[in-house]
Amino acid sequence: MPTEIRLCQNCGKPIQGRMDKKFCDDSCRNTYNNQQNAIPVNLIRNINNTLKKNRNILESLIPANEELTKTTRERLMRAGFNFRFFTHTYQSKKGNSYRYCYDFGYLELEGDWFLVVKGKDI
Ligand SMILES: [Zn+2]
Repeated sequence: MPTEIRLCQNCGKPIQGRMDKKFCDDSCRNTYNNQQNAIPVNLIRNINNTLKKNRNILESLIPANEELTKTTRERLMRAGFNFRFFTHTYQSKKGNSYRYCYDFGYLELEGDWFLVVKGKDI
């Protein structure tokens, strides 16, 4: 009977026993599977930071004691706004689709103008 040395996918040690085994024991299988399923921490942290930055940019544009303002795409981009990331959308009764970053939202207007609003309903 030919002997083929199989190595554990987790720890790399030779596996004893059945040929279809991929791990030396349950512990190695669990460790391996947990790593495969682990949420990439850096990815989540980066997205959270981007969302917070977007939110702070929107907040900074609205004058004190006001609820909304108009701004341009260029101004948002110069501030480092990332249009790919937002937390949720809101469809107004008029059919306008606002994008929110937490409690601040924006609506794209014509000609690269944007309406920036302080959110009430989240
Ligand atoms: Zn192992």
